[in-house]
Amino acid sequence: MVAKNMNDLVSLCKRRGFVFPSGEIYGGLKGTYDYGPLGVELKNNLKRAWWKAFVFDRDDIEGLDSAVLSNKLVFKHSGHETTFTDPLVDCKNCKQRMRADKLKQAGVCDFCGSTDLTEPRDFNLMMKVNIGPVVDENSYGYLRPETAQGIFVNFKNVLDSTAKKVPFGIAQIGKSFRNEITPGNFIFRVREFEQMEVEFFVKPGEDEKWHEYWIAERRKWWLKQGLSEENLKFEVHDKSDLAHYAKACTDIVYQFPHGLEELEGIANRTDFDLGSHTKDAEGLGVKAKVLENKDSSAKLSYTDPFTKETYVPYVIEPSAGVDRGMLAILNEAYTEEKLENGDTRILLKLKPHLAPVKVAVLPLAKNNEQLMEKAKDIQQKIKMLGIGKVVLETSGNVGKAYRKHDEIGTPLCITVDFETLEKEPETVTIRDRDTMSQIRLPVSEVLNYISNFFKYI
Ligand code: ATP
Repeated sequence: MVAKNMNDLVSLCKRRGFVFPSGEIYGGLKGTYDYGPLGVELKNNLKRAWWKAFVFDRDDIEGLDSAVLSNKLVFKHSGHETTFTDPLVDCKNCKQRMRADKLKQAGVCDFCGSTDLTEPRDFNLMMKVNIGPVVDENSYGYLRPETAQGIFVNFKNVLDSTAKKVPFGIAQIGKSFRNEITPGNFIFRVREFEQMEVEFFVKPGEDEKWHEYWIAERRKWWLKQGLSEENLKFEVHDKSDLAHYAKACTDIVYQFPHGLEELEGIANRTDFDLGSHTKDAEGLGVKAKVLENKDSSAKLSYTDPFTKETYVPYVIEPSAGVDRGMLAILNEAYTEEKLENGDTRILLKLKPHLAPVKVAVLPLAKNNEQLMEKAKDIQQKIKMLGIGKVVLETSGNVGKAYRKHDEIGTPLCITVDFETLEKEPETVTIRDRDTMSQIRLPVSEVLNYISNFFKYI
């Protein structure tokens, strides 16, 4: 099941502490959100799952964490200063600004329906910032609009320090900033967001094979995070839509509450990026059309240790958004169920490895010292498993506590009751979020049960 509409998700996120509008007490700041206690857990779990799949489980990818604040030359030579633009139109009637390529109806204002729009003009999306104590026309840099360029400019550093052999990749997760003309649809289009990007360097000629490979890998990964096949689609870009340097691009699109939209792009970027940042592109036989680079001090090429052939690698780029990933996962997990007594329960059917709270321990009576001590003791033992957040739930009665943990996606609730104290061996009940079924297990077996439950392959 999925959410009926975006409002279901927005209100759950606010009510339970996943996502808040940023700077809300001052009226907020458009296109920015803050992730609350549960949101940060879900987001970190998603990033960890990605890092595990790309960096820990593979021998051919290394991680990187490059600076957000960037030398302007990086984005001059990447082409962003001239081409990272969206076409903007103004409505002369209601004064709203919109992206010409995203209008619901071509030539018609999304807000007031007027057809009195200005001609489209290019609007650069990069956030320019002044760096250092002097303010003049040269003292600026950029907050990076994508994490990818930090990878390209570190290509030689990573190659030299790790002695990797092509094909290999560099992975990075981090913040990116874009001055979007029309941020909206909750955390789908924001001005500050996080990306999870891999640049996978391959030998020219082997690029098409690797492109196909990464499309298939990324699909499998999103399915493992709980997205369903029916809501996950592919859009292959028409040759005429491609950036001039790209050979092919396939978007993984998801059926968000507001429509079928991009979740991740997987592009074959040829040797354009390394070719643009390298010195002596011509001498290295770069195939993409790049401008001469007189600022770069490095040759971003690769010499095959066996054949001694030197070339500038092609790059395959799977580039996903963390925030869009989180929105898709929340949407997919959102479920409303009619109970036998006529009530409706809302639950988040999150995959266990993504759940913000892994286990809630519920003492049946909060005013009983012995029960509380026992519950704390069990909570402490579960914490030691290192599975993530384990909470002692002392608010409300057990029924209410179950509802709350259903709604935030806690996979298991453990109830400590009087039987736990009175009988040997000590037992507790474990309640499953999705089936609501309960089993009684000796405390000694609970830890094993939990570790198996949260084993993430
Ligand atoms: P769109 O066409 O929706 O503006 P894009 O094609 O410009 O996206 P890319 O430059 O390919 O996006 O960035 C890679 C990924 O980064 C996207 O698939 C998306 O998940 C994420 N992303 C890009 N822009 C935003 C944004 N403004 N807010 C949230 N996530 C974003």
